[in-house]
Amino acid sequence: MPRDLIDRPSVAAAAKAGPLMDTFGRAVTYLRVSVTDRCDFRCVYCMAEHMTFLPKQDLLSLEELDRLCSAFVLRGVRKLRLTGGEPLVRRDVMTLFRSLSRHLETGQLEELTLTTNGSQLARHAADLAACGVKRINVSIDTLDPAKFRAITRWGELSKVLEGVSTAKAAGLKVKINAVALKDVNEHEIASMMEWAHGEGHDLSLIEVMPLGEVGEERVDQYLPLSDVRARLEERFTLTDIAYRTGGPARYVEVKETGGRLGFITPLTHNFCEGCNRVRVTCTGTLYMCLGQEDAADLRAPLRATRDDAVLQAAIDEAIFRKPKGHDFVIDRRTRQPAVGRHMSTTGG
Ligand code: SAM
Ligand code: SF4
Repeated sequence: MPRDLIDRPSVAAAAKAGPLMDTFGRAVTYLRVSVTDRCDFRCVYCMAEHMTFLPKQDLLSLEELDRLCSAFVLRGVRKLRLTGGEPLVRRDVMTLFRSLSRHLETGQLEELTLTTNGSQLARHAADLAACGVKRINVSIDTLDPAKFRAITRWGELSKVLEGVSTAKAAGLKVKINAVALKDVNEHEIASMMEWAHGEGHDLSLIEVMPLGEVGEERVDQYLPLSDVRARLEERFTLTDIAYRTGGPARYVEVKETGGRLGFITPLTHNFCEGCNRVRVTCTGTLYMCLGQEDAADLRAPLRATRDDAVLQAAIDEAIFRKPKGHDFVIDRRTRQPAVGRHMSTTGG
């Protein structure tokens, strides 16, 4: 640890305070940070077509984001994922990756990674690899360019695929994330899996979650992954495996393709009992659960003083309030989103 850091009394105190543990005995070792609420896509399940974004002055600066992430790393966070919005549209975001990579070098951080829509990936892949990023998640819900445009409203599939190949060539391990959408990509999942596995990428499927108003009925989008799995099993041999990446996905190995398929099932099988994650928005709001409204403001303590003791106390107090879990419901009677904020605010 650099000398100036060791000498700061609050750093020593934080290190002594030990790892973050909630009242259910779950250690918080994984932080997801949304570095911007903005995005160059408008995916139909994530955002409304016309979104009001935060004024730029409300955002944490890159230095503040670094300080915040580092405070968590000091308290035992081993895995850091930058997300958004679209993280790669935040100006100078590579400066943040570069500075955070020092925690990889010291060994305090095990993994620095990102979730991206891939639109800007071709430009940044080599730099990401140089920062010690090893694995990234790229969201692609369909391989049909017209459908891709319809789902993302603004996206261009060819650019994203170019990003994925550039990332692969730069030595990054790519996992493809696809939200399973009723009628939209449900009949394409088998061929997407064959493509992903053929390219050497894992594929994870995600159930759509009721987060924020998107101008469409969630019930019309929602496709239970239990149904998807049953359908895949008519053609493929899926074997449950213990493989984990620190996130909520449960994996199977697919005999016919030799690849791995993940299921992220917040609706059909809630995975809260093993939750090791918290999320911070680009304004420094800490959400202890993706599916609950309770939050803690970390921007005020961050800006109040250069001494991290105040920030550490605010983090401790918030982790103490981490709830047992979410209670997502998608059905015809429940028309309200579980929480008002969009996935792009909290970060996926
Ligand atoms: N823009 C980046 C991207 O799309 O990968 C990162 C942020 S995005 C909010 C992170 C992930 O959340 C994406 O894989 C996206 O498909 C997923 N997502 C967004 N809204 C969702 C929702 N309502 N339910 C389930 N997944 C959602
Ligand atoms: Fe943007 Fe990602 Fe949300 Fe799509 S899912 S609108 S790419 S933040």
